[in-house]
Amino acid sequence: MGNIGITMHGAGSEVGRSCIEAVFPDGSRILLDYGLKPANIGGTKIMAWPEKITRLEKISFAAISHGHLDHVGGLAELAKDGLNCPVFCTPITKEAAELLLYDSLKIAAKKKQEPRYNESDIERVLSLMRYKEKGRRGNVHYQFFPAGHIPGSVSIILKQGRRSLLYTGDFNSMDTRLVKKCERLPHAEILIIDATYGDRSHPDRTAVEERFKSLVAETIAGGGSVMIAAFALARTQEILLLLAEMGLSCPVHLDGMGNNVTDVFLAHSEYLRDPEALRQALYSVRRISQWDRQIHLISQGVFVATSGMLEGGPIMEYIRVKGPDPKNLLILAGYQAEDTRGRDLLKTGNISVGGERVRLGCHVEKLSFSAHSDAAAIRQAIQMVKPRIVIAQHGSPQACQAVVCLARELGCEAYAPMTGDSLSL
Ligand SMILES: [Zn+2]
Ligand SMILES: [Zn+2]
Repeated sequence: MGNIGITMHGAGSEVGRSCIEAVFPDGSRILLDYGLKPANIGGTKIMAWPEKITRLEKISFAAISHGHLDHVGGLAELAKDGLNCPVFCTPITKEAAELLLYDSLKIAAKKKQEPRYNESDIERVLSLMRYKEKGRRGNVHYQFFPAGHIPGSVSIILKQGRRSLLYTGDFNSMDTRLVKKCERLPHAEILIIDATYGDRSHPDRTAVEERFKSLVAETIAGGGSVMIAAFALARTQEILLLLAEMGLSCPVHLDGMGNNVTDVFLAHSEYLRDPEALRQALYSVRRISQWDRQIHLISQGVFVATSGMLEGGPIMEYIRVKGPDPKNLLILAGYQAEDTRGRDLLKTGNISVGGERVRLGCHVEKLSFSAHSDAAAIRQAIQMVKPRIVIAQHGSPQACQAVVCLARELGCEAYAPMTGDSLSL
């Protein structure tokens, strides 16, 4: 049995810019994900990319775990640089990638930045993306397993002869309102695992939802508005389902890319836990676009908008107008990565809006609606997969180290490589 080479082009002891290359004993090269990460270099906000991959024309195939920006955001550049092989993913992942890649071009044009790819590169990579739950290219077999993270998310197993590698992608072992949990992961010799919350346990989901409901109800009863910063992909729809259950007397507004993503989800309802509930929830939602935003900005209500980490998008308009008023409430409904405005706001209480640093008058609260497995669920996953080797990634250095300790307790060899590191296993 020859060795498998694994190179972390991204997501090594960091959250973001996921990209892993696996080289099998016969030389087959497989790429897993190719995403981006917000970063701050000397006060300038940029998107950090995975390391450059050479000889892309020699890649056997790529497989993409799900449609979040940190897993698909760089795909168009791969096509530009010569990738010419099938890119396997679910239909939702493909459509989400299409939305995100075109949106990134629009953002670059608005900021007068030179994009690293153009529309024809996007079209090219989309033409390579195809769905087949399992298959084979050369001597490498692959298969998808539902990962429970967001609709259409998968864990990916790769096999050649007796060697096997399972990449969990982002995975969640707890049901959410939107998607069923990850129930089954197959046995594999090498497990590359999502360590985002490897060093902590999640608060009880019901308690988080109750806190959310009481905060929203109190704010509305006090004459204020609620702004909810949510990722377009999955968190937005999860929040809409929760708000629908509350039967609020004031309107719920949906602004930003969450609108398009909701339509993508409903078009592929087989990936949803309860598509009818989402359809029902939408009946009472006002969908806002840039054309009618100004009218709604001054009204009272609940406003669900992107971006989830306050890195731009319509949420910034709502914060600019509604942020100073202490009657209002801003909920951050997702993970706030290092170097994002959301993390900065939580640390300092200040935020840059329109180039100015302002202290918000409204109440700000971060709620943990996580879609990642916590330490206990990671332990269970390792026990289910029974690997010989565990590689912790997609987590802070502390979180990845915690998963390494946990895996060693369970008798595995374990590593937490940095981005740029290669392992021969
Ligand atoms: Zn994700
Ligand atoms: Zn991720």
